[in-house]
Formats: sequence, structure tokens, C-alpha cells
Amino acid sequence: MTFDVVVVGSGGGALVGAHLAQRAGLRTVVVERTAYVGGTSAYSGGACWLPGTPVQQEAGLPDSTDSARVYLDHVLGELDAPRRRRVEAFLAEAPRLVEALTADGTFAFEWTPFPEYYDAPGRVPGGRSIQPSAVRRADLPAAVAALVRPPVERDRMGREGRSTLSGGQALIARALTGFLHAGGTVRTEHRMTDLVVEDGRVVGVLAETPSGTVELRAERGVLLAAGGFEGNAELRTSRGVPGDAAWTMAPAGTNAGEPIEAGVRAGAATDLLDQGWLCPGMLHPDGRGSFVLAFRSGLMVDRAGRRYANENLPYDRFGREMAKAAERVPSWFVFDAGEGGRIPAIAMPEGDPAEHLAAGTWLRADSIAELAEATGAAGLEETVQRFNAYAQAGRDPDFGRGEDEYDTFFAGGGGPDAVVKPLAQGPFYAARFVLCDLGTKGGLVTDERARVLRADGSAIPGLYASSNSAASVMGETYPGPGAPLGTAMVFASLAVQDLLAAGQPDSAVSAETVAPNS
Ligand SMILES: Cc1cc2nc3c(=O)[nH]c(=O)nc-3n(C[C@H](O)[C@H](O)[C@H](O)COP(=O)(O)OP(=O)(O)OC[C@H]3O[C@@H](n4cnc5c(N)ncnc54)[C@H](O)[C@@H]3O)c2cc1C
Repeated sequence: MTFDVVVVGSGGGALVGAHLAQRAGLRTVVVERTAYVGGTSAYSGGACWLPGTPVQQEAGLPDSTDSARVYLDHVLGELDAPRRRRVEAFLAEAPRLVEALTADGTFAFEWTPFPEYYDAPGRVPGGRSIQPSAVRRADLPAAVAALVRPPVERDRMGREGRSTLSGGQALIARALTGFLHAGGTVRTEHRMTDLVVEDGRVVGVLAETPSGTVELRAERGVLLAAGGFEGNAELRTSRGVPGDAAWTMAPAGTNAGEPIEAGVRAGAATDLLDQGWLCPGMLHPDGRGSFVLAFRSGLMVDRAGRRYANENLPYDRFGREMAKAAERVPSWFVFDAGEGGRIPAIAMPEGDPAEHLAAGTWLRADSIAELAEATGAAGLEETVQRFNAYAQAGRDPDFGRGEDEYDTFFAGGGGPDAVVKPLAQGPFYAARFVLCDLGTKGGLVTDERARVLRADGSAIPGLYASSNSAASVMGETYPGPGAPLGTAMVFASLAVQDLLAAGQPDSAVSAETVAPNS
């Protein structure tokens, strides 16, 4: 029960940190509350916003650490000195991390196009995020294959994963393989409930297990990387996070925020607690939400039947538009029969149209007038007439839909014509949409070494945080695909470097007594 490092959580940041720590010779245990590893990270597309690496160079992209800095400067706005240090640490570490992960073959990354979320200087056409290459289940150690959480559409139905693991599945499988190969320990069904603090230093965690509470000691330190508190209805409400615990994309029974609360009890400061990585979510018959992006046609209206934003905005930006007014949650996504009664978008998961119609999460009618009556969205007919006129003219003067590279990327590119299409072919459908999230993004305040800080800026000895357990370095913005995982992995790596330095002879100086934010 005594290790050098205890890592709480098993998402992308946690496992990358655990793998790097164990590989560097630190005895490391991963503590995971469920029977699976991977959390929301295993559901993800595995895109990692890690700029300036050899992977982008090999793909011939105009990406570099400098252009990423220019982009972030425009997207994040003015930064105070501690945040600037975190941004610089992130930019410097991203290429080093990718080299470290690929050096022994545990990881291979590739670039796949996926545009960034802001039209700002420094943006790379086609995007700069990279993804771990897929792995075949048959090539994985049996323990890894059994532990990786299945993709969302299968997990929600209690089914096993696929024969090829791609995206977030590949990220988790690769990191777990490396970690176990290096001799790491995984403890599933261990719900961390508190930190063990002795003489002001974090020396371990308490975890509830099926056979009672256990203490896991950490001789160097504890890394909290266990999601946010998206699954905790009470905390969400008290902190003012938009959306609802029932609608989050985090797997059921996972991220309730105990690690963040334990950090607070140990004296940590928090930030961004009212923030999430937001997205529009299609309501399912079981009351859960599903992440939807890349609308190929159709339009979104509020309860009164009025459009309120460009439906093809990057999902977090659309979610923020939704959060601006109560009458936007729920919204109705209205589409025609152009795709045979399926929603013209990527929905994860999509569900069965017949089940949606039977449950009333979707409504169907032969005319827009009837659909307006069924939904109660009085302005719908007028909105659709106006939208159809825009479709004919090939331009959306209200919201500029289709004008940005991101808007039409999933529809094959081109201009507004690719996504501003008339609703012409009945029957017509209205799908109920809620405000969904990929996780909360507020949490423990950390520095450029991922050390958890008190309100006075001093570091709590032995305590580190990354992933959605830490207040995001990206603040209230989502700059591009892979920002959650990229930052989670980088700050986990920086935590490991500090943990390694903590074992050096001058550790008392480097890890504990350095002046806050020096
Ligand atoms: C469909 C989808 C696609 C996405 N695509 C991308 C993408 O391509 N790129 C990207 O960057 N982001 C993507 N995201 C968002 C991203 O997946 C999450 O924001 C990120 O994975 C969160 O990482 P995390 O480690 O903080 O949490 P998680 O990955 O959810 O992991 C947290 C783990 O900690 C465990 N845990 C929680 N509390 C405790 C406790 N008390 N004790 C022990 N264990 C605990 C949980 O059970 C869970 O397994 C996507 C999300 C979804 C849903």
C-alpha cells in the first residue's frame, strides 16, 4: 500500500502521468473508482491539442510553438503572470511530451484534419491537433483489453468495446499498456474519498473499496486527475455550472468531484467552478444527453421557435449561446427527411429514431405548421420561411452560418451552401436539445509545475492536479479540438517532472519552499 506516487483517476492525463512516472522508476498506483479505466477520455475522439511537435512537421503543417502562442494570445486574451507561466509551460512541454511518449514505441500519433475553433491569427488551416494511432484489441495485453471502458454508444448499452480501439480508446489502451509494462499498479473500484495530510504534506489518499476503506501512501506525492464534478448535481447547482448532471457526457457513476473537495479541505484554492466544456446535447429517452456536432442541415430554435446562433459554431461556443437564455434549454433541432429520418449531424450516441419518436424526445409532422403546433414553438413557421430564403440565396445574414472553415468541415467544405439547406422534404422532425457538457473545467488552482496552490499562492507539498480536476489553463475558452486532453496530459507530465525533482538532494528547495509563483 506504499507507493512513490498515487494517481487518482484513469483518464488521459492520469494514465499518461502514471505511465511517465512508473517508467522513470517511481512506484506508481492508479486509483479508479469504477471497474473500468478511461472515464470520459475513453469516449473521446482522442484529439490532443499539442502544438509544435514533429507530428505536425511531418504532416507539413504551418504549425509551431510560436504560431500556437500567437493563436492562444488572441483566443485567451490578456493573461496575468501566473497564467502566462502556465501557458508557456504548456507550449514548451507539448513537443517534449510527444517525443517522450513516442520514444519507446508506446505511443504513435498522427495528424487528422479537424479545424480549430476560432478564426484568429496563428490558426492552422485544417487544425493542428494530433491523435494516438489506433490499436487492435487482439494486439493488446488481455488485462488492458478487459479494463478499457467501451466507447459511449456501447458503454451506455452495457456492451463490450470494438475490435479496433481508436481515438480516446487508443489513448487509454496505449498509456495503460505502457504503465503496466513498466510495472505499474491499477486499483479499480477504489473511490478516493480524502487526502492523507501529515505535517502539512500530502502523503496519501483514502479510498473506499468493496471490502472497506484503505489508505494508499505516496512517498513523493499525489496527482489528482479524476475528472471534474460534472456528475454531481448538488455541486453543479451550487457553483452555477450550466446544464445538468443527467445530461453530461461523463460515464454514469464517475466524476462527482471528491478529489477537488478533498483538495479544498487540504487548503487548495479553486477557480472557474462555474465553467464546463459545453456542447449542444440531444435528449435521449432515458433522460441523458448526447454530444452532437457537425450539423449538415436543419436549424436550431428556442422554445418560441426563433434561431439564436450559427448552428455550426464549434460546440462549446454553441453551448455558451444556449446557456445565455432560459428559453434555449431545451431547444428544438428541426430537420427534414433529407437523410431518411435520421438526424443530419454526428450524434454520440445517436439512438434509434423510432425510439425517440415513441418516447417524444423527437416529434414528427407532415408540415412545419403542424410541427410548430406540436412543439409549441409559435415562431417556427416564420423562422423556417426566412431560413429557406437564406438557403436559396446561399447566405445566412443572421448568423453567418457556413462562412468559417469549421462550419462546413464535416459537410465536405465549401461555403454556406454546404450547411444552409432548405427544409423542403417532409415529414419534418423536431429533436429536443439540452445543454450538455464534456466535463466541468473548474477545479484546483495549480501552477506551471501542476502543483496545487493555496489562496496565498504557496504550493501544498505533495499535491498535484491536472485534467478536469484542475482549473483549466484555457480559462473560459475552448481553443481547438483536443484542448481538454492536450492540457491534461501536459500538466500530468509536468507534475511527474516535479515529483522526480522532489527526489533529488535539493528537493526541499525545489518542491516545497520555493516562493509562490516565483
Ligand atoms: C464524445 C466525446 C468526445 C470527446 N472528444 C475529445 C477529443 O477528441 N479531445 C479532447 O481533448 N477532449 C475530448 N472530449 C472531452 C474529454 O474527453 C474530457 O474532457 C476529458 O477526457 C476529461 O478527462 P479527465 O481525466 O479529467 O476525466 P475522465 O476522462 O472522465 O476520467 C476521470 C476518471 O476518474 C475517475 N474518478 C472520478 N472520481 C474518482 C474518485 N473519487 N476516486 C477514484 N477515481 C475517480 C472516474 O471514474 C474516471 O474514470 C470528448 C468528450 C466526449 C464525451
